[in-house]
Amino acid sequence: MSDQPNKDDLIVIGGAGGFIAGSLARYFKDRGFTRIRAIDKKPLPEWYQRVPGVESLCLDLSDPDNCEKVCEGATEVYNLAADMGGMGFIERFRIECLRSILINTHMIEAAYRAGATRYFFSSSACAYNVELQKDPNVRALKETDAYPAMAERGYGWEKLMSEMFCEEYWSERGMKTAIARFHNVYGPYGTWDGGREKAPAAICRKVIDAKDRDTGEIEIWGDGTQTRSFMYIDDCTKGIDMITHAENLIATPINLGSSELVSINELTDIAEECGGVKLKRNYKLDAPQGVAGRNSDNTMIQEKLGWQPDTSLRDGMAKTYAWIEEQYNNRKAGIRTVE
Ligand code: NAD
Repeated sequence: MSDQPNKDDLIVIGGAGGFIAGSLARYFKDRGFTRIRAIDKKPLPEWYQRVPGVESLCLDLSDPDNCEKVCEGATEVYNLAADMGGMGFIERFRIECLRSILINTHMIEAAYRAGATRYFFSSSACAYNVELQKDPNVRALKETDAYPAMAERGYGWEKLMSEMFCEEYWSERGMKTAIARFHNVYGPYGTWDGGREKAPAAICRKVIDAKDRDTGEIEIWGDGTQTRSFMYIDDCTKGIDMITHAENLIATPINLGSSELVSINELTDIAEECGGVKLKRNYKLDAPQGVAGRNSDNTMIQEKLGWQPDTSLRDGMAKTYAWIEEQYNNRKAGIRTVE
């Protein structure tokens, strides 16, 4: 790594009322950064995390004037704001997903005008060609697999276009940009209920709920054989920092994901172990389930950074399960929770 910001440089983080950007604000705060500006369109009481000492603003970043306002004086800008959710959301709300293009379009221009030295964009494995993901026994996706382009309709195409903006702001205008293609991130402070949650959180919640209501059953979306890899949140924030400050990765999309491939059935086994139960599985075959299989090829990140996400799914799920159980119990007791 090189060219690290000073501890009193202004760091701007978009989408910080959400899961990953909220954790990123905490990550930088924990590392001693004193000027962090966090923005989200959600009202402040609904933010998943409010990090003490971080300036927190409720603004819509699809508005260019707001982008200009928040980027003023910024040294580094991290854009993680997007209208997104798990498969249930991105298969149903393609227009909302596509509209996130406005956020990146205006944020990157505002960062450039403000003279920011680094701009980070959170892309996704959904930018990859879906034709390569039709078999649960997947070949892991490597960075070159995004082209010829056949991304996930809506959400994936928005990511691909926004990546291109980042590449061109470097090549035409000389602003250093960084692009990470996240593969399923999970952990405490992630969405765990309400329709936007992803598989690890959804399955933990369903196990907790089955135990609580003593149903002995769990509903699984699809036939359970679809495969994925899941990255623990702490690996994600560390990876964002490393990728953003790597001189050999400027304007270069790179996978940021775990390469530990599991089926949804195996993920359910782990959640059941966390809860100490065994449940009867009801497979909902007409539920949204996304591609058949997807894994992250980590050859490039190993080569460029000498590191890859390394928290085991068992360790990460144990922490996530415990956190969701706490949220579940709080909600039941009428205490406000993250959802
Ligand atoms: P999240 O939904 O928890 O957070 C995104 C936040 O962006 C939300 O709080 C939302 O209110 C905010 N937002 C949406 N539109 C906005 C706007 N116009 N102005 C300001 N804020 C706005 O999602 P997350 O899981 O933290 O994801 C963060 C980023 O990482 C997103 O770009 C997402 O596409 C990407 N990503 C996430 C995953 C994952 O597994 N979580 C995987 C691949 C990519």
